[in-house]
Amino acid sequence: MQANQRRTKILATLGPATDAPDVLDNLFRAGVNVVRLNFSHGDPSGQAKRAAAVRAAAQRVGAEVGILADLPGPKIRIEKFAEGKVALKTGNRFDLVADPDFPDGDATQVGVSYLGLPGDVKHGDVLLLDDGLMQLCVERVEGERIVTTVLNDGMLSNRKGLNKQGGGLSLGALTERDKELIGIVAGIGVDFIAVSFCRNAEDMNEARRIARSHGCDAALVSKIERTEAIENLTEIIDASDVVMVARGDLGVEIGDAELPGLQKKIIKESLARNRVVITATQMLQSMVESPIPTRAEVLDVANAVIDGTDAVMLSAETAAGAYPVKAVEAMARICLGAEKQFETDTDFEKAPRNLERADQAIAMAAMFLSEHIGLRAVVAMTESGGTARYLSRFRSSAPIYAFSRHDGARRRMALMRDVFPIAFDSRGLAPREAAREALRVLHDRSALATGDRVIFTSGDHMEKHGATNTLRLLQVGSEGKAEGLGEL
Ligand code: ATP
Ligand code: MG
Ligand code: MG
Repeated sequence: MQANQRRTKILATLGPATDAPDVLDNLFRAGVNVVRLNFSHGDPSGQAKRAAAVRAAAQRVGAEVGILADLPGPKIRIEKFAEGKVALKTGNRFDLVADPDFPDGDATQVGVSYLGLPGDVKHGDVLLLDDGLMQLCVERVEGERIVTTVLNDGMLSNRKGLNKQGGGLSLGALTERDKELIGIVAGIGVDFIAVSFCRNAEDMNEARRIARSHGCDAALVSKIERTEAIENLTEIIDASDVVMVARGDLGVEIGDAELPGLQKKIIKESLARNRVVITATQMLQSMVESPIPTRAEVLDVANAVIDGTDAVMLSAETAAGAYPVKAVEAMARICLGAEKQFETDTDFEKAPRNLERADQAIAMAAMFLSEHIGLRAVVAMTESGGTARYLSRFRSSAPIYAFSRHDGARRRMALMRDVFPIAFDSRGLAPREAAREALRVLHDRSALATGDRVIFTSGDHMEKHGATNTLRLLQVGSEGKAEGLGEL
């Protein structure tokens, strides 16, 4: 652990490409902080196996790795091809067949899961598949068969998503299948649950109620990927723990030209409302096939870091790509480079005035001081991770070392920018003793050196959630001893 560690977190989707031996260990060594299990692909038992493999590999590597379960939502998908994938040529006829008994597809036709589709499209509609990589123009509907013309050359593989340009095809969020899956992922013990195509706060509240009814304390992630979610953005953010800028479907529904502005707006709003935010989809897309990212991709990842995102995500690059570990290494390198360009937001004029909680007030005071008296780090004792979340919303230059005895809290904090979770049981220790111990741990790990000044936050009752009420100014003495800081 060093002072110049990467601050932006990396989320990697697991799939066939990460199942090979040693790949998980190498992904974690390369810096993956949270993995994503996409329940749109593969069966739940396969994903449960991956989750178990993640816990084992994280332990071997000594990393705190969170697990995010992504619910399928109401996304319309094509079915499978006999060969797994086909090449489509511009100008050729290609039929979508909404029939449950339809055989495997080929270069002329493929099945589609949503039987109502023929009733929802008309001549002239443009259908976008695989986040817009493949485009089809509807010619006519013949019973359960939609006849289209291919608009661009490209490959199409199993179970790719399908939407109408301009949106309007997505159905209600939180399907019966999603509700059932929440019970299953609760059993797996995931740390995050993502709601696809959420429309409003109630979709998030319902998912949260179901998760809690299964005794699951996972953080709830809203995927912002449809027009209605943009209209209800603030209420969705407030009902979420984490927000995802899901650029794949968002670009299809709203148009790609709106994406840059929306990304910046969603990140800014999420931070202002004390939420964690992920930027996702096609970040290093060319690395599915190539060991080196394009310059445009490098700039895209870097710009998300400069926009202030907590985490950047890899999808097919790791799940189904030829270079999963190289993709993570590239992402880590780009984040670190971009962080040097990031201007910390130290304008406390803009900071919230209507503080509602003691831990929030302490966090704000800590960050104000960290910017104004030259501190090396903020050290926080936290039960649920709440203090770390408030601290990290400020994007100051000081790293936040978050000590918690709860595995789940540490894995949820793994997604927060600037936060480094550390396992530590403070029960039975007075705050002064906890401070001494924590500084010694950081000194031993070379995160702090003699002479460094830090802020230490804790509560009188170390076991209570949201009980942070104390801020101490300390200096690291010889051999990592904590000393009170007298002069500034
Ligand atoms: P979503 O809308 O939920 O993001 P997606 O189809 O875009 O769905 P991603 O998880 O973003 O899926 O991954 C991109 C691609 O990687 C998928 O379309 C699929 O081809 C492949 N993939 C991902 N996970 C798996 C898996 N578990 N098994 C097989 N293929 C997978
Ligand atoms: Mg999706
Ligand atoms: Mg995707």
